[in-house]
Amino acid sequence: MQEKALALLRRYYGYDSFYPIQWQIISHVVDGGDAVVLMPTGGGKSLCYQMPALLMDGVAIIVSPLLALMKDQVDALRQNGISAAAINSQQDEYDNREIVANAINGQLKLIYISPERLIADLDGWIAKLNISLFAIDEAHCISQWGHDFRPEYTRLGTLKQRYPTTPIIALTATADRITRDDISRQLGIDAARLFMTSFDRPNISLNVVHDLSGKTKQRTLIRFIEQHHGESGIVYCLSRKTTESVATMLRAAGINARHFHAGMPTSQKLETQRAFINDEVTVIVATIAFGMGIDKSNVRWVAHYNLPKSLESYYQEVGRAGRDGAPAEALLFYSYADVIQLSQFARDSGQSEINLEKLSRMQQYAESRVCRRRILLSYFNERFDHDCHNCDVCHNPPERIDGTTLSQMAMSAIARTGQKTGINTVIEILRGSKRAEVTAAGYDRLPTFGVGRDTPFTVWKSYILQMIQLGLIDIAYDENNHLKITDFGREVLYGKRRVEFTKFEPHVETSKAKRGTRRRNDIATLDGIIAGEPAVMDPGLFEILRQTRLAIARARGIAPYLIFSDKALADMATRKPTTQAEFSTVYGVGEAKCEQYWRPFTAAIIKHLGN
Ligand code: ADP
Ligand code: ZN
Repeated sequence: MQEKALALLRRYYGYDSFYPIQWQIISHVVDGGDAVVLMPTGGGKSLCYQMPALLMDGVAIIVSPLLALMKDQVDALRQNGISAAAINSQQDEYDNREIVANAINGQLKLIYISPERLIADLDGWIAKLNISLFAIDEAHCISQWGHDFRPEYTRLGTLKQRYPTTPIIALTATADRITRDDISRQLGIDAARLFMTSFDRPNISLNVVHDLSGKTKQRTLIRFIEQHHGESGIVYCLSRKTTESVATMLRAAGINARHFHAGMPTSQKLETQRAFINDEVTVIVATIAFGMGIDKSNVRWVAHYNLPKSLESYYQEVGRAGRDGAPAEALLFYSYADVIQLSQFARDSGQSEINLEKLSRMQQYAESRVCRRRILLSYFNERFDHDCHNCDVCHNPPERIDGTTLSQMAMSAIARTGQKTGINTVIEILRGSKRAEVTAAGYDRLPTFGVGRDTPFTVWKSYILQMIQLGLIDIAYDENNHLKITDFGREVLYGKRRVEFTKFEPHVETSKAKRGTRRRNDIATLDGIIAGEPAVMDPGLFEILRQTRLAIARARGIAPYLIFSDKALADMATRKPTTQAEFSTVYGVGEAKCEQYWRPFTAAIIKHLGN
């Protein structure tokens, strides 16, 4: 079967291999197994149900919550020459009837449908279909604990009862345990196999600039956007008013920017989204309201003009960049003024303790001198024990010291208190403080009492924060913020591993805002696709191909990224195919796309090579 699948992959998608986890999932589902799939945005979830749909008899039913997402997926499949359609209440019932007829005749491989429509039609036309599998996309919508709960999703439990032998595959980019358990329980697929990958997005470079104010902040943003000339990106701001003023400021600097926020009339919001998706507007300045339900794969950068309220929001927003796997860049503007304002919101929020704590983790991320990806992933309880080499801290490393002994001191103090103390008390024990809270609990009799008295309080605080960021210890929000030692921490405590700290520096970078020099041509460093080939990408040609793509997209009324991803264009600009045969081997060029597009793209390449 693998051979057949690989042939289909090349033919329809223009890819040469599956990611290992994709193949595991595909063969499990084709064998009739249920699956719960947790992968980050851009992880390659779609193929996990689309390939089984192609391999199996009958039609696959894909449940999806948003019309825009369905339409995007159907357009993408059709571009690849795969017969797919979406049933929805916004389109003509006449069209819907025709789709239904095609499905019953076995002419469709995939049908996208909303959960309410699926449930409503179960006894109707759905009963007449030969169904290969059910895929539940954005499956976290089933959980009340999640951020996107949709009551209609909870009725999908009936599918397994009606179709006990038809595989169900549930997919989401949300990884927390409660949501995950909810998904299999509510869908009635308790025996489903769980497939989970790292939530790292290695192609997104993470950068922070500090304490810029007024004109310098504006100039830095403008410079950043100019470095990404012509590339799509999003600037996130805290308030609606700021989105408008920043967009105006950018336009005055000659940048093609528009604002977007929840207070705008619906028609204006839709128009702004449409223009962004079609590459007519390159920069959107938005509140967090922008981005949900947009699948645009060629967003190349995300800037946070203000600090987000938590690392969850931050990572979600950053994750809208680089879905195609090509390099993308995130820039966060950190200022203490934002912290003050966000603290106020958090205090007024009704869940002030949790929200203040989340904000403080966000702040620590911004202030940290430890690899930023390590901080992010350990925040999401993922083990990531090396530096990423794709963040500003890694590019501009601070001085390192051995932190093993210091960590062991701190963790033995934590362990000896039964893991029932917060940061300040642990430091007081280490420093041998005689304060009442310490002596009253008998902590002054612990062997670790006073072992760290040579290190000042603020320095210990920095080290303990680093231990949290490195994933040695964790803060238990539900237990008075007490410190808990993780499995990784225990390995260090028992001397099985060493760790490094960043040397404490009292005043690290203020207004100078050093940014590692960004590589304009970072798209040329695409990993994987040009592996083993010395060829380098020609940025001038890439630009020409992007214009070619844009012109075709306009003429056909579809989004440019649905024709070819940026990664596909980068491969063309590297290997410079000039014939149909050469073109057919490009990353992301399947048979249908080769047939449709080889002429204009090879013509552009030939012309460029002749110049
Ligand atoms: P998700 O739905 O998890 O966000 P997608 O299914 O949209 O991710 O895939 C992300 C990107 O990776 C898409 O551009 C997709 O075409 C590409 N991709 C997926 N699987 C493969 C593969 N096996 N080889 C090469 N590219 C792939
Ligand atoms: Zn790093």
